[in-house]
Amino acid sequence: MYNFLLDKDTIELKNRAREFVKSIPRQLLIDMDEDKIQYPTDYIKDLAKNKLLGVRFPKEYGGLGMSWVSEIAVLEEIGVLSLALGCLYSLPSIVGEAINEFGTDKQKDKYLRDIIIGKRFVAEALTEPRGGSDFFGATTTAVKDGNYYILNGQKRFVVGAEGADLFLVYAKTSDDPNTPRNKQISLFLVEREMGVESKYVYGLMGTRGGGAGRLVFKDVKVPVENIIGYEGQGGEIFNQMMYPERMTSAGGILGMARASLEVAAKYSSKRIAFGRPISKFQGVSFKIADALTKLDASRAITFMAAKALDENHDNPGLCRRLVSEAKRVATEECYSSIDLSLQVMGGIGYTTVYPIEKMFRDARLASIWTGTSEIMNLIIQHEYYSELKLNKNTSRDIELDAKAAFENDEKIYQ
Ligand SMILES: Cc1cc2nc3c(=O)[nH]c(=O)nc-3n(C[C@H](O)[C@H](O)[C@H](O)COP(=O)(O)OP(=O)(O)OC[C@H]3O[C@@H](n4cnc5c(N)ncnc54)[C@H](O)[C@@H]3O)c2cc1C
Repeated sequence: MYNFLLDKDTIELKNRAREFVKSIPRQLLIDMDEDKIQYPTDYIKDLAKNKLLGVRFPKEYGGLGMSWVSEIAVLEEIGVLSLALGCLYSLPSIVGEAINEFGTDKQKDKYLRDIIIGKRFVAEALTEPRGGSDFFGATTTAVKDGNYYILNGQKRFVVGAEGADLFLVYAKTSDDPNTPRNKQISLFLVEREMGVESKYVYGLMGTRGGGAGRLVFKDVKVPVENIIGYEGQGGEIFNQMMYPERMTSAGGILGMARASLEVAAKYSSKRIAFGRPISKFQGVSFKIADALTKLDASRAITFMAAKALDENHDNPGLCRRLVSEAKRVATEECYSSIDLSLQVMGGIGYTTVYPIEKMFRDARLASIWTGTSEIMNLIIQHEYYSELKLNKNTSRDIELDAKAAFENDEKIYQ
C-alpha cells in the first residue's frame, strides 16, 4: 500500500516476510499467550531459513546488506504476529548491531554468522532489579582475572532468559569514582554454558512466550576475547545500541496496529445496530479514521527515522532525536489506535473471540521497554536544545517578525 516509500528489493523482501507471516500457525500465538510455550525456537530457525534475519548486516556474514528502511518494512509485517514474535525477530538485529559495529572479525565469524543463520539464539541484558532507566547505575560487575572476566550480578526482564544461548551483557569494569559513569561499563558476549542461570519467568500481562526472565551471574568466567570493543567502551556502544532497540520497538508495533484496525474495520461493516452497519455512524467511522491516522503518522515518523539512520551517520544528535521520537510516537499512537479498534468492537472486542484484547495487552508494554516514553522525552528535548544552541534550524530571526519586537524594556527574562 505504501510501496512508493520502498525500492524494488525491499518490496520483494517485504512480500517474502508477508508470506512467512501467513505460514505461522495460529496455535503458536495462542500457546505463547497461554504460557504453554516459553520460547519458540523453531520460529527463529524458520526466520533464518526464509532469509529474513540480518537484513542490515554484511553479506559476508550471511546478512542481506540492506538498509534500516528495508528492516522496518519487514518488521511491520512480522509485527502483525505479536509483540513477542516481533521482539524475537528483532533480537538478532539488536545483538548483531554490537558485534557488527564494535566486534572483532573473530567475533563476527563466531557469533554474528551463527545468529543470522539461526544457529544461536540471543538476548540482551541491560535492566537490573535496581532499575532500567538509570542504565549507568548498573551494579553487575566484571573483574579481570588472567584470561577471563569474572561476572557477578543479576539482570531482570530479559527476553530470551529462557531459550537463548548467547547473552549480550553490560557490566561494570571500574568503580573508580574519578571515572565517569558511562566509562565504567563494558559489554560482553556471554554463552549460557559459561554458567549463566535463568531464574524466573514473570507472570506478564501480555507479550508472553518470549522467555522473559531473570539472569543470575555467579562467578561466571567469560574469556577476555568475549569483551566487545575495549574496557570502558560500554557507554559508547550503548548509545549506538539504542538505535536498533528503539527502531525495532517502533517498527514492530506498526504491524499490530494495522492488524487490529483491519479486524475492527471489517467488523464495523458487518455489525448492525439501529438497522444500519455501525460503520455508518460517524461515532464509529471517525474512530476508524483516527486509528488509521495514528497508524500512518507512526509509520511516517518511523520511516523518517530509518532514512535518517541510513543517510545521516555524520549527525548522531539528529538520529538520536528522530529515533526517540519515532519510538515514542509509534508506541503511544499505535497503542491508542489499538484501543480505538477495541472500542469499535464493543463488548466482543474485550473477549478472546477476537484477537484485539491480546493486542491491547501486548501493546501496553511498548512504551515501557527499550526505554520508557519519559526517557525518550529526556533525549528528544536534550537533542533539540543542543540543535538550538548551534542555531542550525532557524532560517531567519523569527522573533523580530512581531510588531513590537523592539520593545526591549518588555523583554525581561529574570
Ligand atoms: C516484558 C518485558 C520485557 C523486557 N525485555 C528486556 C530485555 O530483553 N532486556 C533488558 O535489558 N530489559 C528488558 N526490559 C526492561 C525494560 O527495558 C525496563 O523495564 C524499562 O527500561 C524501565 O525500567 P524499570 O522497569 O527499571 O523502571 P524504572 O527505571 O524504575 O522507571 C520507573 C518509572 O520512572 C520513570 N523514570 C525513571 N527515570 C526517569 C527520569 N529521569 N525522568 C522521568 N521519568 C523517569 C520511568 O519512565 C518509569 O515510568 C523488559 C521489560 C519487560 C516488562
